[in-house]
Amino acid sequence: MALIKKLPDVVANKIAAGEVVQRPASVVKELLENAIDAGADEIIVIIKDAGKSLIQVVDNGCGMTPDDAVMAFERFATSKISDVSDLERLHTLGFRGEALASIAAVSQVELKTKPRDSALATLVRIEGGILQETAPTQAADGTSVSVRNLFFNVPARRKFLKSNATEFKHIYETVQAQALIHTDIGFSLISDGEEIFRFKDESLPERLEFFFGKDFTKGLLEISEHNTILTLHGYLGKPAMTKRAKQEQFLFINQRVVQSRLISHAITQAYGELLSEREQPFYFLSISLDPKHVDVNVHPSKLEVKFDDERNMYQMIHAVVRRAIHHLDFSPAVSITEKPNSFSAPTHMTHSPEAPNFVGIAKRLSYQPHETEIRTTQALHADYKESLKARQLAELEHLAQIRNTLARPSPSAEPLPNQAPAQQVIFSSGATQSEDKTSETLVWQIHNKYILTQIKSGLMIIDQHVAHERILYERALSVMNSGVPNSQQLLFPQRIELKPWEAEILQEIHDELLRLGFSFRLFGGRSILIEGIPPDVRPGSEEHILQEILEQYQTYKTTLSLESRHTLAAAYACRSSIKAGDKLSQREMQVLIDQLFATSMPYICPHGRPIIIKLSLEELDKMFGR
Ligand code: ADP
Ligand code: MG
Repeated sequence: MALIKKLPDVVANKIAAGEVVQRPASVVKELLENAIDAGADEIIVIIKDAGKSLIQVVDNGCGMTPDDAVMAFERFATSKISDVSDLERLHTLGFRGEALASIAAVSQVELKTKPRDSALATLVRIEGGILQETAPTQAADGTSVSVRNLFFNVPARRKFLKSNATEFKHIYETVQAQALIHTDIGFSLISDGEEIFRFKDESLPERLEFFFGKDFTKGLLEISEHNTILTLHGYLGKPAMTKRAKQEQFLFINQRVVQSRLISHAITQAYGELLSEREQPFYFLSISLDPKHVDVNVHPSKLEVKFDDERNMYQMIHAVVRRAIHHLDFSPAVSITEKPNSFSAPTHMTHSPEAPNFVGIAKRLSYQPHETEIRTTQALHADYKESLKARQLAELEHLAQIRNTLARPSPSAEPLPNQAPAQQVIFSSGATQSEDKTSETLVWQIHNKYILTQIKSGLMIIDQHVAHERILYERALSVMNSGVPNSQQLLFPQRIELKPWEAEILQEIHDELLRLGFSFRLFGGRSILIEGIPPDVRPGSEEHILQEILEQYQTYKTTLSLESRHTLAAAYACRSSIKAGDKLSQREMQVLIDQLFATSMPYICPHGRPIIIKLSLEELDKMFGR
């Protein structure tokens, strides 16, 4: 006698229900998706007892005929696809045809539905997967599904439902996500007779502010991207808002609520040094792409997705977010009215490269988004350039005037000096004063450490060491990534003896060192001959630079959790950059500022220390009691 039998549908559905229906919120999600697929523009969600005793979703969508109303509860019965190839052209949220069957298997369901062109509605009642009643009835256009006593016939499941507060939170978040992505649909949520929210035709920013508070969108950065693969629109939290929970991350693919570790990783990585380990950025990303590039059928709950070209997707999202963040000026503005301590440098901000610290910058700097000052990096750079040029012009005019009054033949017009050269400038430790032809100072160096310059809103202060560190760090990375030869031969090759641990590190990063621009010959033992170094190395420091980098690398390796190429770049940048105490010429300072603004992140050095600080005219006035 055969031992293997096919399970009856009722049993099969009950088992399958475990996959689709984990908790009341899963029912809400499935019913909402059906209502949206039905073309509704108004959806009401009514729950009692956090969905444990009742979940009802009422829509004004297309409705169903009496036959379809019964058929809808069959397992794998769907009107949305009929062929495998349809999966590649999917434009509906549902397609598996098992939600209603699964829900009905573990609850008591009552469905009322009426297509617009039909006079009568249909009532269908099912309990534990068994059809109880179908009858014609009176009802409004659309569909209403009531799900009572979820898991009434699966006591084990019912017992494991969480507290009402928890289950309600899940439901709330489920409706919230749909309300945010389908702004063309009105959504209401009513819990135990209380209206939790009701949207009609509110816009996305309005809905965001409803959920996250007034002025919330002021802390957001709007992003959009359109290319041959995808269209993307959304918002990113500015770094000040990063101390938020993971729940405040919304991802939608073709208007479907999804989760993707790939994309969420790409976004977090793009924030990079702006986040400390446990910080999470707020994001709301809506991505549209050809459904054939994304598989939503990874899991019965359709929450997870898989892209056909994950690598490309990752890089694209990373680039878009990175670009958006780079365009944002979040150099801290010093505010005198705040507690004075809020901007005095904490210990890890002082110059101690031995103690790098990766704490999120926003936290340390108590960054406040300025309402009046929506600025970008480019705007800040342009502002600086403009004010520089204005003063240069003023001076040239002044010179011309003097010449005229002296009634000498006017010399050929002097070109504007100080246009940043495209290539690198090597900073000499002693400034060459000869290039400072114009007599007026445009940028100032104080204590051979900080660079001061005027910007429209006030004063910008730059830390010369970390600024140069940022520039060299990015240059080192791009040199190593490109593989373009970058070595400068030493006139007198240096023979040095390495300590055992130095030799060990040299082994480890031998290839990367070559890519960076070092060239050396190894002799027996630990003796090496350095023949070439990267051109950015400061003159005068050639002799010990390799040993210093090896040592720095060793330190960073344990403190910065970066991959070795980044660690080497950081070590190199730290050791090769100009130091506090190096005197800079006008021209060197201006080139430094220009090059800084050309980096991908001009505000923070590779270890997370701030590079630029601003002091507004307003604050200055305030200090002088004006
Ligand atoms: P799927 O959504 O994957 O097709 P479901 O079990 O959720 O599977 O629903 C089965 C079918 O019932 C749907 O394909 C649709 O034709 C119909 N249906 C379900 N809910 C509604 C609704 N609210 N309005 C109109 N039709 C619906
Ligand atoms: Mg469905």
